Amino acid sequence: MRWAYRIGRIAGTDIKVHVTFLLLVAWFAWVAYNGGGTAAAIVATGFLLALFACVLLHEFGHILMARRFGVLTPDVILLPIGGVARLQRLPEEPKQEFLIAVAGPLVTLALAVIFGVASYLAGADPLPAIRSGMRTGDSILAQLCALNVWLLLFNLIPAFPMDGGRVLRSALASRMPLPRATRFAARIGQALAFLMAVYGFQAHQYLLVLIALFVMLGAGSELASVTARFAGRGVQVAQMMVTDFRTIIIHATLAQAAELLLSTEQREFPVVDNLGRVEGMLTRDGLVRGLSERGPNAIVAEAMVPHAPAVPPTLDFEHALGALRASGLPALPVVDASGALVGLLTADNIADLLLVKRARGEA
Ligand SMILES: [Zn+2]
Repeated sequence: MRWAYRIGRIAGTDIKVHVTFLLLVAWFAWVAYNGGGTAAAIVATGFLLALFACVLLHEFGHILMARRFGVLTPDVILLPIGGVARLQRLPEEPKQEFLIAVAGPLVTLALAVIFGVASYLAGADPLPAIRSGMRTGDSILAQLCALNVWLLLFNLIPAFPMDGGRVLRSALASRMPLPRATRFAARIGQALAFLMAVYGFQAHQYLLVLIALFVMLGAGSELASVTARFAGRGVQVAQMMVTDFRTIIIHATLAQAAELLLSTEQREFPVVDNLGRVEGMLTRDGLVRGLSERGPNAIVAEAMVPHAPAVPPTLDFEHALGALRASGLPALPVVDASGALVGLLTADNIADLLLVKRARGEA
């Protein structure tokens, strides 16, 4: 996701914050400052950071449960409406997805109970705060309890990307194939979002309209990613790699590389040594940058991306897509067990394969 910044790493998962979340913190602090000065701004910021911590704990409920089923989480992004833990892949069984989806809300429920009891013991009944949706006059503990109750209710809305949407999908998926279950769940979510938006406009609750928009987008992107995953099921890198391609030798000049770029349709070139072993990848951007910074007589080794991760031809679709995305490169070399370069994995070719499969009615 763009505009998300990494702020730390916990248990192998990058914690990222979306810039809109930071804007929300700034906005809250500004409103509080105008209402009650510096002290109010500090309290408001502290409260939002507590919200941040509660959302993070919720996400780690998902992350740790997913890990029990062997599904890793490369990162979690905090958005104004909550966190999104990006799972490396979908769990195999609908039951596993169900358990992963409910683990987060269970953490939030536990937090609500803990803060509620603490508030009660401190002499403040948390119920008025829950009912009123957090007034500034309530004690901090009562507000934190109310916050988690609302977070829980919000997450249980049966629409992607909320947890309720995943629970719904896993329930549907135990009766039908996953792509159909996803389509069903996405439609239900979009219908709910539409109603939410209409209500939001009528009641002048524009935050609700914003959430509805987010749900619309979330449902669409979930559907697209599941469709792509399923279209590629059973396909290995060998079937989707480019086999008709050119390589460039590591000590060629950038002028020679530019000539190759202009005379072919290819944009990324595997860089090989005298023995044909892959040393890196020369991308079009890298070549252009090298030419402008070092001139045409510089050699390819100076402009290439060294140690581009190679993928084996037997790798499955999902892992190959993951490797390509993780590398940040437009293409990866495909190298077989003997170390020979046998192909080129490119995002364009994968998209072509999916189009062909769809046209044939296989997807
Ligand atoms: Zn969640």
